[in-house]
Amino acid sequence: MFARGDHVDVHDVFGLAESLSETGSAGDDAPADQRLVDPSQTLRRGHDVDILGGADDAILAESDGTDHRKRDALLGEPAAQGFEDGGHVPRMHLVPPQQVDQASGDLFGHAGILARYGIIRKIQYVPVIAGNRLGMRALVKTQRGPGNVELQDWPEPKVGPREVLIEIAACGICGTDVHIYHDTVSSDPPVVPGHELSGVVVEVGAEVRHVNVGDAVSAETHHGLCGVCRYCRTGFPRHCRARRTIGRRVDGAFARYFKTDAARVYALPPGVDPLAGAITEPLFTCTHAVLERGEVRAGELAVVLGPGAMGLLAAQVARAAGATVVVAGLTADARRLALVRDLGIPHVVDLEAEDLEALVRGLTDGYGADLVLECSGAAPAAALAVRLLRKQGRLVQVGLVGSAVPLPLDEITFNALDVRGAVGATATAKDAALRLLAAGPVRTGSLVTHQYPLEAWQEAFARWEAKEGVKHILIPTA
Ligand SMILES: [Zn+2]
Ligand SMILES: [Zn+2]
Repeated sequence: MFARGDHVDVHDVFGLAESLSETGSAGDDAPADQRLVDPSQTLRRGHDVDILGGADDAILAESDGTDHRKRDALLGEPAAQGFEDGGHVPRMHLVPPQQVDQASGDLFGHAGILARYGIIRKIQYVPVIAGNRLGMRALVKTQRGPGNVELQDWPEPKVGPREVLIEIAACGICGTDVHIYHDTVSSDPPVVPGHELSGVVVEVGAEVRHVNVGDAVSAETHHGLCGVCRYCRTGFPRHCRARRTIGRRVDGAFARYFKTDAARVYALPPGVDPLAGAITEPLFTCTHAVLERGEVRAGELAVVLGPGAMGLLAAQVARAAGATVVVAGLTADARRLALVRDLGIPHVVDLEAEDLEALVRGLTDGYGADLVLECSGAAPAAALAVRLLRKQGRLVQVGLVGSAVPLPLDEITFNALDVRGAVGATATAKDAALRLLAAGPVRTGSLVTHQYPLEAWQEAFARWEAKEGVKHILIPTA
């Protein structure tokens, strides 16, 4: 017989599935021999499969599509063709026997169907395809160099004892993903990009306690933190020397399933939908940039340069902290600037049509801004920021420029300015971000202007690069 972890040929699994048929009962409305899996139709010879189940595991299954399709997929009835094209592939969950009753509820989709057919407690082994066309679809950077990104069949991740498996509901396109595509930032291919994610936990490792199956979550971008370096110990794991970036060094979330360390996972506040939840990670970064690096205080004037996603988040956080907020962009940003107005930010400036410096002076009795949050990454923005600031003001650089830019150091010196970079987030910033999201003053969902199925990734990347809209989201399960 097979054991957990065995690697076998599908030819063997045929017999396995036949024995599975024998253990199943007839079901409600048809004889067993018409209803249970016909393995010769549901798996194709020559496929390698991994045996994930063991004799002590009960197994629940799920798949794409409607309940009807799920049932078809499970029972191998008219959906045999679906298996051939990958459309009806069931995903099997291993569930300890003591959890079967709990898990057979709504949480697991058609688990009830399995139960209805009386086989839920009797299945001993179920094959899950890995590494061939019956695996999940994923967007993959296949090798270094410009381009080299394509949709592939990719093994579903298997969780370790301290990891969780997340079924991805939404994953935002970040500049980093586009840079990985163009190979203007390094990566370790083959690797699945995508790190601005939200989804539902579908499997937890044996040692995981704080996250449960069914939880709606987002996650940080860290992997492999050492836990003992000065940055880990002082609550800033972004700088851990052992850190590997999700979606760049290890597989990210442009795929149906994504696994990560349970400690990197955050439950989304109630009522935050998957699209809004996918923007949690950039909100972490912006909250840290505004509250901690920017040290914004109530009553201050904060200028946000660049009305992209980071700018819109930073503006909302600064406003929530009690600052008067000005957001500035270019004429080409008209739609984004309109979105800023929709968010209720009072001062919205088209830099090419209006005099931002005059506005800022007018709002500050001639002193200048207390804080500039540079979120555009545009080369001239740093010098503009220095002109906008009052003496002793603060510039926080959030946007990435991509090249060295001139900085008026003498003005920084004479005006005693603080110039700070901001990347990643502290635990306190993450906590504040989740509270702002839960309480309502920061709205991330309204930043989502475009969403696409995974298959439309090329269109999505192109529109992102054309600066259409604000946030572009891939939906791997669409
Ligand atoms: Zn990002
Ligand atoms: Zn560390």
